Amino acid sequence: MTGTVTNWAGNITYSAEELHRPPRLDALRSLVAGSPRVRVLGSGHSFNEIAEPGPEGTLLSLDALPPTIEVDTTARSVRVSGGVRYAELARRVHAHGLALANMASLPHISVAGSVATGTHGSGVGNAPLAAAVREVELVTGDGGTVRIGRGEERFAGAVTSLGALGVVTALTLDLEPAFEVEQHLFTELPLEGLDFETVMAVGYSVSLFTDWREPGFRQVWVKRRTDQPLPGFPWAAPATRALHPVPGMPAVNCTEQFGVPGPWHERLPHFRAEFTPSSGAELQSEYLMPRASAPGALRALDAIRTVIAPVLQTCEVRTVAADEQWLSPAYGRDSVAVHFTWVADTAAVLPVVRRVEEALEAFDARPHWGKVFTMPGTVLRERFPELPGFRALVEDLDPAGKFSNAFVRGALAG
Ligand SMILES: Cc1cc2nc3c(=O)[nH]c(=O)nc-3n(C[C@H](O)[C@H](O)[C@H](O)COP(=O)(O)OP(=O)(O)OC[C@H]3O[C@@H](n4cnc5c(N)ncnc54)[C@H](O)[C@@H]3O)c2cc1C
Repeated sequence: MTGTVTNWAGNITYSAEELHRPPRLDALRSLVAGSPRVRVLGSGHSFNEIAEPGPEGTLLSLDALPPTIEVDTTARSVRVSGGVRYAELARRVHAHGLALANMASLPHISVAGSVATGTHGSGVGNAPLAAAVREVELVTGDGGTVRIGRGEERFAGAVTSLGALGVVTALTLDLEPAFEVEQHLFTELPLEGLDFETVMAVGYSVSLFTDWREPGFRQVWVKRRTDQPLPGFPWAAPATRALHPVPGMPAVNCTEQFGVPGPWHERLPHFRAEFTPSSGAELQSEYLMPRASAPGALRALDAIRTVIAPVLQTCEVRTVAADEQWLSPAYGRDSVAVHFTWVADTAAVLPVVRRVEEALEAFDARPHWGKVFTMPGTVLRERFPELPGFRALVEDLDPAGKFSNAFVRGALAG
């Protein structure tokens, strides 16, 4: 029997008939111990079957557990329970005069689900969100608990783990003093002659957007920390009206622009917590490549822009600093991330995703684990050199394979 629980985008319906919402940790542990297969659903913002529990599997949500957000101002850290989303976390952290170093484009996503897939924001100095994690607390297959902290050897596989190690019940994250950010938007940046390194380093976080209907970029979003210098932006004209990254969508959904300073958590995401992020009817794909490949990769995409444009809503180019999580798409290399917001039509989009992957073949592209991609396990093994180490960690922590599913087995099989 097919279930009724879907992901945020609605392109995946999980086979589980029910979404289990244990109200207490002991109930969660019993449920896990008594289930043959388990997957956790975070806020469901992934676009593929990564959270699918499979036939007879249990699909679990942590959203009925009491939310915990414990800020330690001395240690500059916060311990957050597994169901909490960034919007709520950021408000609480900011109230203590502290901040997370970076955020994704939207605050609606759960912390545990985001770091599990290698979710990132933007900035030449900003590693993926998982880089902030100090400690992970897991419920394992027998209902027992395990803590894995930074500095332990297996920590490198424990955060960006695709949900394959157990139920993440809490995470402890690094904090820093709160800071303010301004957003400056520009329009029509040419691809021809683009000095990618200079442009992307002009702010704390920089995003380039294009529809690939014409060469070059329709929008540039520069997020500048007010405690850092404000260089000029001679390459494109300042925007004259508020913009949404998806052409035709209302800018009211977006965080404040025109250089108005505001707290970090109300400027680093593109989308406001209380509005629908992005377009709402969409699929997404994203690939991370060594940052030095950016000019070549962008030229390769420009060469197939007539293939991409008909099924594209917007394409965003960001930078991500290297991190040390084995399964992170930014593992070991400063990266350029090229993201595609497609139309919500899987049949029309998949052939174009394949064409994009072919175009990026020469650039050692690694897919975002939470988005649509077609690379088989054999290719993933080449792209993620530490997959064997991660496989060994899965066998150690989850010998019965309770938390593996077809998606994870496919990724690890190569
Ligand atoms: C509009 C939109 C904008 C986005 N913008 C960005 C962006 O800026 N940058 C970026 O990198 N990505 C972005 N994404 C992708 C998104 O960040 C990822 O898909 C992320 O995983 C979403 O978190 P989630 O909680 O919804 O995860 P889910 O899709 O619910 O789950 C993802 C994985 O995490 C596992 N999981 C979740 N919670 C737990 C837990 N407690 N214990 C164990 N496993 C768990 C699940 O089993 C699954 O394997 C965007 C997605 C959308 C829809």
